[in-house]
Amino acid sequence: MSRGLPTTALEFATRHRAYGQGRTVAAVLGWVPLLVLYVFSHTKYLRPYVPDSKGLAVVVLIVIPMTWLLGIAWAYRRVGPGVHGLVCPGCHARLVDDAYKSAAATGRCARCEDTVVVDVGAPSDAPGAA
Ligand SMILES: [Zn+2]
Repeated sequence: MSRGLPTTALEFATRHRAYGQGRTVAAVLGWVPLLVLYVFSHTKYLRPYVPDSKGLAVVVLIVIPMTWLLGIAWAYRRVGPGVHGLVCPGCHARLVDDAYKSAAATGRCARCEDTVVVDVGAPSDAPGAA
C-alpha cells in the first residue's frame, strides 16, 4: 500500500502535506474523547458512569483518555509516513518534519544518503518553498 521512493520533488511535497493533514485528523480523533468527557463532566449524564472510588474515577476520566490520545499520536507517527510513502527505501527512516526538510533540500536521506528525490530544485507547487 505504500508508494515508493525516490520520487519527484512535487510528489514528495504533496505526500508530506497529506501526512500533515492526516496528523490533524489523528489529533482531532485523539482529542475528541477528552473534550466530550470534559463537557459531560459538567452535566448529570456522565455521573452514572463514573466509579465512586476516586482512584477509579481518575483512571476513567484522565488515564484512559490520555492513553488514547498518546496512543493515537504514537500510532500515527509510526504508521502515517509509510501510508503516505515517506519512508526511506534505504534505511526505513521516516522522512517527516526535520528529516523531510533535509531530504527535500538535498534529495537524499539524512541518515543513509540514499536518493529519495530525483529532481531537487525543480519548481514545487508551493511558491517560495525552501
Ligand atoms: Zn535512509
